[in-house]
Amino acid sequence: MKQRAVAAVLLSALTACAPVAGDAPPAAERPWMNRTLGADQRADLVLREMTQDEKLTLVFGFFATDAAWKSYTAPAEGRPGSAGYVPGVPRLGIPPQWQTDAGIGVASQGGAKEKWARTALPSGLGTTATWNPELAFKGGAMIGSEARSSGFNVMLAGGTNLLREPRNGRNFEYGGEDPLLAGAMVGAQVAGIQSNHIVSTIKHFALNDQETARDIGNAVIDHDQARMSDLLAFQLAIERADPGAIMCSYNKVDGHWACENDWLLGRVLKGEWGFKGYVMSDWGATHSAAKSANAGLDQDSGFPFDDKPHYREPLRAALAAGEVSPARLDDMARRILRSLFAKGVMDHPVVEGPIDFAAHAAVTQADAEQAAVLLKNEGGVLPLSATVHSIAVIGSHADKGVLSGGGSSQVYPEGVNAVPGIPPTSWPGPVVFYPSAPLAAIQQHAPKANVRFAAGDDSAAAARLAADSEVAVVFVQQWTGESIDTSLTLPYEQDALVAAVVAANPRTVVVLETGGPVFMPWIDRVAAALEVWYPGTRGGEAIGNLLFGTINPSGHLPATFPRDASQLVRRDIDGTGLPPGRDFDVHYGEGAAVGYKWFDLKGIEPLFPFGHGLSYTTFALSDLNASSTGGELTVTFTTRNTGQRQGMDVPQVYVGHRGDGWEAPKRLAGWKKVDLAPGASTQVTITVDPRLLAVAQQGEWRIAAGDYQVVLGFSSRDIAATTNVRWEERKLPASWRP
Ligand code: BGC
Repeated sequence: MKQRAVAAVLLSALTACAPVAGDAPPAAERPWMNRTLGADQRADLVLREMTQDEKLTLVFGFFATDAAWKSYTAPAEGRPGSAGYVPGVPRLGIPPQWQTDAGIGVASQGGAKEKWARTALPSGLGTTATWNPELAFKGGAMIGSEARSSGFNVMLAGGTNLLREPRNGRNFEYGGEDPLLAGAMVGAQVAGIQSNHIVSTIKHFALNDQETARDIGNAVIDHDQARMSDLLAFQLAIERADPGAIMCSYNKVDGHWACENDWLLGRVLKGEWGFKGYVMSDWGATHSAAKSANAGLDQDSGFPFDDKPHYREPLRAALAAGEVSPARLDDMARRILRSLFAKGVMDHPVVEGPIDFAAHAAVTQADAEQAAVLLKNEGGVLPLSATVHSIAVIGSHADKGVLSGGGSSQVYPEGVNAVPGIPPTSWPGPVVFYPSAPLAAIQQHAPKANVRFAAGDDSAAAARLAADSEVAVVFVQQWTGESIDTSLTLPYEQDALVAAVVAANPRTVVVLETGGPVFMPWIDRVAAALEVWYPGTRGGEAIGNLLFGTINPSGHLPATFPRDASQLVRRDIDGTGLPPGRDFDVHYGEGAAVGYKWFDLKGIEPLFPFGHGLSYTTFALSDLNASSTGGELTVTFTTRNTGQRQGMDVPQVYVGHRGDGWEAPKRLAGWKKVDLAPGASTQVTITVDPRLLAVAQQGEWRIAAGDYQVVLGFSSRDIAATTNVRWEERKLPASWRP
């Protein structure tokens, strides 16, 4: 149950202003239901019929789960256990908006866990690590279909905040540190969700890159640098997904709350980017009626998470006082209606129905199998052979299941939490393990082997088991969750556990279930390491397939793994240790030099670089060619599988320029995931978005004339070839899109 501070306001005061139903026009007289008309026209037609009360209804949402600690009873028409409910207007055939979290599947908020057991994808960062937008789309389509079958027509997915701060407890929900990768991967997933005729959000707009005091911190960053980093990730995701809604975030930007920030919402999102959907607030992120409405907030969400309602009665009063124009209220309602038409919610009402869990398990497993990143593999220890005599499986409840991340995005598994009772057991917990045990999967792959398990809470016992086994597989984990940031040092003395095990048996493989980057002080000693993130409903089966080579690892890091704390941009997370409610700034002095860009700029050698990921086969890259014909940068090259196994390569193209305003030596400009049989090769063509060659200057994209370096690599640090291309000066307006 969410336990965040919300003020008790009597629900009755709000239900008293429920819309007064006029006479319902007969269905035949609902011209807005004519599907041959466009969404804008249909929204206008229905808006014309609406009373002010009805418009005010549409722009105000309720939490849909009872909150006993606030004496709050959710509206009966909501879906119990879910995030949100916005009443519809039955006389006009406008359905309620039933809102569910979030990015890995249909989440639920406390209570009703059994009823809401659903399929969970790997964490958002895991899906991003596949570098496979088609797979992200499929995963989105799957969870969107479960949302639909569960009676939801709005999914609060699409976490796009950049991994700027590796300790951010919500990094697992997001798309990593690079704007192009995050925008492409999250955008694809949201497009998949919306292919079910439901709305998805993209969130949390913007610069909400840490959880420490997230509801008060003020992000400070140069606007042009923001446009080249965090905002670019959102811009690219929005272009690819065309989401029905954007969720504005808890934090402040430039001293103004994100949900009443005219620069973010009015100028950039709706102005320059031409966003036609609606902006909804995060739960408890609204702070005003008139200022929010005039800045661009269209829907005040999640009452009673705010200390008081800001829309409904306060908005009615602001309208009466002339502080908000009737035209703006129309715009707010029209945007919501337009998305309901444009995304198919009006024409395809959601109906609760059965879910094909078996088919969906295959979708999440495929995602987990491409998400896993083989970080290290020496002496051919992996893949494990089915004829291995004995395996020590150690740690992380690998005998029971796989870990998931905590907070509002928590999807509950079928059956039970495989490891109940681990703190925190309440918000942002509980800590949930999906009942998909890696131990059972390992046993299945090596039926004749002596496979034994040690819990890992006793390092000496684990070391004895490892010494007595041919190979040791140690599972380590780091639980992270919404509303708290985290240490990059593994908890529960797991570093000491790994050290003890590898001292006993050098043939030690470490499997990491983490929210994002962690430190690995033992990495030089272990034979292999496989990062599986939070791998979702079928994580155990996926891990078994990867360890034994039934599936060849093909994930690549969507974030730099720092070696130790001295490599972090900030020593401490801003706001740490301040009394609650104290104003403070979050300084993004690194500007657009996020992640690998910072490491490149400062010449720091990370533990594992952005883009890194090994395979059980090998690849060669050749024939790099770059041309700038017709104002477009086109890059071609060949990739060849030079090993003995089928495998998927992820060749990456970076661009660099020694010009003013470039935040770092190079930027990711494109990639392609290609599946190659042994000996096979293919030519790849990548067209580069010109904004990736540009510098933002006062909102405009400027590409300076000169030489640009084109870099082809297996990762941001493992470079296969470079070439140069000449470029003429080019300027693009802030509104430019491909
Ligand atoms: C989170 C959002 C979520 C909302 C509704 C907030 O705490 O920040 O991501 O969609 O709650 O549950």
